[in-house]
Amino acid sequence: MNTLATIPSVDRLLQEPKLRAAVSEHGHAAVADAVRAVLGEYRAAVKAAAAAQRSAEELVAAVLGHIEAGSRPSLRRVFNLTGTVLHTNLGRAVLPEAAAEAARQALVAPSNLEFDLAEGERVERDSHLEGLVCRLTGAEAATVVNNNAAGVLLAFSSVAFGREVPVSRGELIEIGGAFRIPEVIQSAGCRIREVGTTNRTHLRDYERAIGADTAAVLKVHTSNYAIVGFTASVSEAELAELAHAKNIVFITDLGSGSLVDMTALGLPAERTPAQSLRDGADLVCFSGDKLLGGAQAGFVAGRRELVEKLRRNPLKRALRLDKARIAALEAVLRLYLDPERVRTAVPTLRLLTRSSENIRETANRLLPAVQAWCGSAATAEVADCASQVGSGSLPVDRLPSAALRIRWAAARGVGTGLAKISKALRELPVPVVGRVQEDALWLDLRCLDDAADEALFVDQLQKRSL
Ligand SMILES: *Cc1c(COP(=O)(O)O)cnc(C)c1O
Repeated sequence: MNTLATIPSVDRLLQEPKLRAAVSEHGHAAVADAVRAVLGEYRAAVKAAAAAQRSAEELVAAVLGHIEAGSRPSLRRVFNLTGTVLHTNLGRAVLPEAAAEAARQALVAPSNLEFDLAEGERVERDSHLEGLVCRLTGAEAATVVNNNAAGVLLAFSSVAFGREVPVSRGELIEIGGAFRIPEVIQSAGCRIREVGTTNRTHLRDYERAIGADTAAVLKVHTSNYAIVGFTASVSEAELAELAHAKNIVFITDLGSGSLVDMTALGLPAERTPAQSLRDGADLVCFSGDKLLGGAQAGFVAGRRELVEKLRRNPLKRALRLDKARIAALEAVLRLYLDPERVRTAVPTLRLLTRSSENIRETANRLLPAVQAWCGSAATAEVADCASQVGSGSLPVDRLPSAALRIRWAAARGVGTGLAKISKALRELPVPVVGRVQEDALWLDLRCLDDAADEALFVDQLQKRSL
């Protein structure tokens, strides 16, 4: 019979040798809290006559489990086997080691963040990145803020506050829920003037929309969707010419942008900031952690006089970048100075250009461990698949890849079975995130290209089973 009287007291349980050891590791308060939580649950279950009697040993194990769960960091590394290389929910671009090390240095020691070592005077923190951005894009000047959304906000707030901005109806886009072009432009204190139609916008539409109150024309890279069929849009070169004839500013939001010619790497074409500036853009906005492969940031590059306006805007202070990311981005931009090596040195470019044959070899090596982990509940096999770039970069293009395709063995309950497999993979010490599609769970191995990571992946599967 369970009686409340058989439940040990908090003090009594704390005397257990394993919990005394836990106290010296985690401190008395944390262990006592865990004991109280476990005993509280047990007491409630006993009262509801819902619990079998538990030995002191079982209670100690529950307390240790509670402590472990509580001390596990919330933000942890995972294996991104979704097939989306720049996965916003999984942290987008992975930094090169050199960049991570630069960020670490900036965090653990003082630095010349806003200090000119030659003159002994205060300088802009942008100065560490501006020269590199100018070299890589041909811009006269550049600034950097928290992300590309912030870059667009800062640009319009500085250049077009209180005035009108014509934008094509085909470019009034939403990126990942929170970033909507009309709302960002309005938040910058500007009025959107919709131009053209969803599928077709012509130069004359812009011409008609520009009036005395127009401050700037915006062109937006449609990033995460494509308009196909009977379509027309106006090129950056034409918009730049029109804007300059009317004495207004032309700003382009490239979204991702790329600092190298993607086609030279065998990837689909993506506009570069250098092309936009050559075509006459006054300011170009692009992300730091999309195709560029750096840290979260937004670059705004272009005419000096306009970039100076952005710097003087009080919002710049609110949107500025921290020293760790400045250090990381400087290291990444330096890698771009050597076009021969950038493809292998920047992980994002390395993963995007990885051959399907090479990915298939990884899949073949990992198949036995994954099948053993599945046991008889599911079957795994190597299959062709298609990866995506992600983060609104190159939205309709797919990269040939290879995956482990896991199918639930039983004919019934396939959906529940796949959910169970997905959950078990997410509960591994280094969680594995795949993608459910066509009645199977797919583990696209494009982003598992490192021997040490591969060993870790196999090792944790061998220690458990589905
Ligand atoms: C991704 C994207 C943004 C937002 O960039 P963040 O760096 O995520 O803030 C803005 N505009 C376009 C066109 C994009 O593709």
